[in-house]
Amino acid sequence: MAEFKRPANRQEFEENFAPVHPLMNETQAYYESSRCLYCYDAPCVNACPTGIDIPLFIRQIHTGDVTGAAQTIYEDNFFGYACGKVCPTDVLCEGACVYNHQDVKPLEIGRLQSFATGKVLATDKQIFLTGRPNGYRVAIIGAGPAGISCACELRMLGYEVDVFEAKNQPSGLTIHGVAPYKISNEEVLAEVKWLEQQLGFHIHYRHPIESEDQLKQLEETYDAIFLGIGLGLTKSLDLPGENLKNCVGAVEFIEQLRLHQHQVTTGKKVIILGGGNTAMDAASEAARLGAEQVIIAYRRGKIEMSAYPFEYELAKVVGAKGMFYVQPLEIVGNVQVEGVKFVRMISENGKLTPIPGSEFVEPCDTVIYATGQEKQTRFLDKIKDVRWDGKGRIEVDSLTFQTGNPRYFAAGDAVNGGAEVVNAVAEGKKAAKGIHDYLFLGK
Ligand code: SF4
Repeated sequence: MAEFKRPANRQEFEENFAPVHPLMNETQAYYESSRCLYCYDAPCVNACPTGIDIPLFIRQIHTGDVTGAAQTIYEDNFFGYACGKVCPTDVLCEGACVYNHQDVKPLEIGRLQSFATGKVLATDKQIFLTGRPNGYRVAIIGAGPAGISCACELRMLGYEVDVFEAKNQPSGLTIHGVAPYKISNEEVLAEVKWLEQQLGFHIHYRHPIESEDQLKQLEETYDAIFLGIGLGLTKSLDLPGENLKNCVGAVEFIEQLRLHQHQVTTGKKVIILGGGNTAMDAASEAARLGAEQVIIAYRRGKIEMSAYPFEYELAKVVGAKGMFYVQPLEIVGNVQVEGVKFVRMISENGKLTPIPGSEFVEPCDTVIYATGQEKQTRFLDKIKDVRWDGKGRIEVDSLTFQTGNPRYFAAGDAVNGGAEVVNAVAEGKKAAKGIHDYLFLGK
């Protein structure tokens, strides 16, 4: 079990949060790329939501054409560098690599991808050609991966694009919600800045679009509007004691950590409520911030957690422990958290039932709850004919990403309910093509 001292300064923070997928050097990339079999109808490509031509870019790396490799990647995925670092490659491209069938370690596709794109990001070489101006203007609400990807594709098609972002930094959850040992703030910001320079769209920061008047103004100025609004805050626990000091939502905790790094502290004993990937990230981060004990409490069994097994492993490696079949009833404490009252659960034929009399209090001084994120339906209320389903996801045409209001398109977490960065990137690009068909081809 790894033990971490509480980081007192930025250097110690960076040591505790050292990248789990560090960048390759030239020699490593050369040898790793030499292992590729350049499969026909490669399963790794089929497993990539953005369909990157993986064997081609690996061959380009191996033959020394690193710029060509980056171009191949960016052709399909505008977040080529970030996705190489934050994608769950174990269940996507690397999980599909043919080497898995021979019990041989699959190609490190993600690290090769970040190697090639990282080399190009470090230069000012122009690798994109923007389309000839077509006279149309599109407004993008939200500078997350879906919004930026849509903006990039629209610029390639000749549109004038303005992105409106409520926060003071771009990239949505990539910078606010991904664990810092996967990608650093600097790396995320560098790729977005590079894309802005390469493709010439403009991001207006601290510019929230919230009112009907603002939307009306956008409708008067732009020919189409893309909603890349993502998700909201962590859903409430709806339990007594939720408002006690040191009881925080996982998304808010991770955002604070990314923004304030070593200045964020946790208690000595932290209980994480939830069994998804965000819960695993929060557990791992609490341990790396120096918590002495981290417990992941989940109401069902280990194999029923929605987190990827490798994410649970990442949390376990740094000392987090699982506590299963326990349902929280109350956050216990006076002014601040002193524990969590649980009841033990039993699963019979898939149905969970509390075991009478099994209540107990697990002492702790911090609770982080990862109970999913709120949907932003209150904002959608303001837009005529934009509808959402029972789970609060914006309803769109599955091919064009057009909403019920023909001038509005949407993609990313607000549509898929919360998926990976790579899914948002893929959808944002498809939505741009949907906008193009609607405006330019009149479909
Ligand atoms: Fe190369 Fe593996 Fe993809 Fe085949 S499946 S092309 S070996 S990365």
